[in-house]
Amino acid sequence: MIAFNRSELDAEDLDGFLFGADRTALRTLVDPLRDMQDGRCFYCAVRMRDDVHIDHVMPWSLLPIDGVANLVAADARCNLDKSASVPVRMHVERALARSHLAEAATIARIPVLFRRTASAAEGMYASLPIGSLLWREIREYELHAG
Ligand SMILES: [Zn+2]
Repeated sequence: MIAFNRSELDAEDLDGFLFGADRTALRTLVDPLRDMQDGRCFYCAVRMRDDVHIDHVMPWSLLPIDGVANLVAADARCNLDKSASVPVRMHVERALARSHLAEAATIARIPVLFRRTASAAEGMYASLPIGSLLWREIREYELHAG
């Protein structure tokens, strides 16, 4: 068990980095994130089989943040349906509230980027037009209430 306190996480955020085109680097997160989620999809909680996708909660096309705080394990159905949608705020809050982010980061050698993810998400929701569609689950959206 490796314990980090919040100030260590924030210090780590300062020298965060992006993977850019190297998406395969994220595969190292499959095992630790699947374990963290008890083998269930982050979005629908259905037990995942071998089709574990690493999903950017805040879509990479809008916020290119490859930190563990912004990454979850999802099954193919949810990941493909969500695609580049902005999720309902609840999903971001759930992702940020997870414990053991630092352990997964250490195992996968990928930074947590907690503060960067939290502040970027905050900025994104603040700038989204009222009434924008937010993805909740497969084929289910909610209107952004501001
Ligand atoms: Zn799912």
